[in-house]
Amino acid sequence: MGSRSPSLANPINPELPAYTVRISDRAKCVRLALSVDKGLEVVIPKNYDHLKIPELIHQKRDWIIRNQRKLDEREAFLQSQAPHELPDVIKLRSLGEEWQIIYNQTVTKFGSITISEQKEQFQLIISGNVTDTEGCKTLLKQWLMRKAEKHLFSWLRRVSIQINLPYCTTTIRGQKTLWGSCSSDRNISLNYKLLFLETKVVEYVLIHELCHTIHMNHSAKFWNLVSKFEPNYKTLDESLKQAWQIVPAWVGL
Ligand SMILES: [Zn+2]
Repeated sequence: MGSRSPSLANPINPELPAYTVRISDRAKCVRLALSVDKGLEVVIPKNYDHLKIPELIHQKRDWIIRNQRKLDEREAFLQSQAPHELPDVIKLRSLGEEWQIIYNQTVTKFGSITISEQKEQFQLIISGNVTDTEGCKTLLKQWLMRKAEKHLFSWLRRVSIQINLPYCTTTIRGQKTLWGSCSSDRNISLNYKLLFLETKVVEYVLIHELCHTIHMNHSAKFWNLVSKFEPNYKTLDESLKQAWQIVPAWVGL
């Protein structure tokens, strides 16, 4: 909720992107947000003095430039992919599995499509009207969701017991920007796209979310707890930030 003013050119440093200001009823302090859709957005509480904004942006210059570069890289990467192509192979690094996909164009009554697994050969067979790219993608994503439910649920349970941090429930989702999340009632949700990442990185995400059952923030105490179970957490967190490059374009982010 809130109102938005049009993009303003940045008066202090023309190198910095233009920004919009959004007044939020809920914001307690001012914050900056960068996204492909909205660009640089300054979210301010109701009574915040607008005149302070240019100086704030100037102070946050390094953060803005660094994150703008990351966004640009990500966009360029996505543009370079052929996003509508269907995969011939699905590589699930986390499980050490590589599935071949075979598309069988067959005539069916309603142009329907089906998917079946040949477990021994690690093959997925898609039959029916396979020219329906979107339909095939939907089936493949559903298969990935089931796969994630099967593996990530038990994986999380295992890690939870190991590090003695219980949680309440788990759900699998396909969020665009989150690998996982933990609510204040200790409900953990995990992104099925984690299946594409390295085992070590997934394990780190599980530990990270389980530590949120104790600390619902990214405070020093939180990181201290994470480091107890994963001393290498900084490197893993960095590789997680780059991990979108591993998720194939057909899955979408
Ligand atoms: Zn977190």
